[in-house]
Amino acid sequence: MDELRKDYFLDRYVLISPVRSKRPHLVRHEKKKKDSRCSFCIGNEGKTPQELYRYPHTKEWQLRVFYNKYPVVTPGKNPEMKRKGSLVSSGSFGYHEVIVDTPGHDEELWDLPIERIADVLRVYNERIEANMKKRGIKYVSLFKNHGGLAGASLHHSHSQLVAYSQIPEIIKEKEKAIASRDNPYGHLIKGEMDSSRRCFENIHFAAFCPFASRFPYEIVVFPKRHILNATELTEDEIISLAEIMRIILLKLRVVGENYNFYFQNGIKNMRFHIEMMQRKGTLAGFELATDCLINTVRPEDAAKFYRE
Ligand SMILES: [Zn+2]
Repeated sequence: MDELRKDYFLDRYVLISPVRSKRPHLVRHEKKKKDSRCSFCIGNEGKTPQELYRYPHTKEWQLRVFYNKYPVVTPGKNPEMKRKGSLVSSGSFGYHEVIVDTPGHDEELWDLPIERIADVLRVYNERIEANMKKRGIKYVSLFKNHGGLAGASLHHSHSQLVAYSQIPEIIKEKEKAIASRDNPYGHLIKGEMDSSRRCFENIHFAAFCPFASRFPYEIVVFPKRHILNATELTEDEIISLAEIMRIILLKLRVVGENYNFYFQNGIKNMRFHIEMMQRKGTLAGFELATDCLINTVRPEDAAKFYRE
């Protein structure tokens, strides 16, 4: 049934409009060819901008972090907001890092065992923490684009981090929307884990397809304990999160090669969570005109697929 659905907390709407109920079909995955010119591959370290971190600290690294060659923000710029008449702007100040998830060119995040996904999460947190401490940084955004439709321009599996001088508007909106509510996440998680949108849960995390999912197979992962930032995760929780993420990634692999995920770290009240979704195409006229996205996969159907 088609519906116009409102987000749990935000004044954000989405049209749920399954043209026809279609089961996800298995896509064929072509093995990527080894590319000796790939600057993300082990042995080609000299081809990347300045290295910031590697794990472990040996020649045979498993994860490697360096500045993005085509950064959206750079440290040399002035973060101070200036007004010129009615126009306000600042320099595009910040830090844009690339985190190479694996030394193997043809290895994807979903191919990694839980322990290695946990290593990736630990390095994410190491970099979030390092950047949060930097002068002039108000927010650190951590995300992964996989596949061309999700915005990835390079095949070798990697994640990115952008630290900059503003708190994103969406985070401010989420903070504001829950500020006056009593235990909003407790009620939300309890309600959704008891609904047809329930996906998985383990000892520390719960995952479900949001009622007003904006994208096909959108899924949100919440810690059961209230924390603001991923950097507060305990060792146990990191393993628990890696377990759930691996299951989700393997499911996203079945519905297609393109996905995004990103961290939503809170500032004051918003609980840390991760949003993950399949990406199929670009936004069309109606969506641009109204800011109301059209999702062709009902969250209840998506959740059923995740549970199967
Ligand atoms: Zn490579």
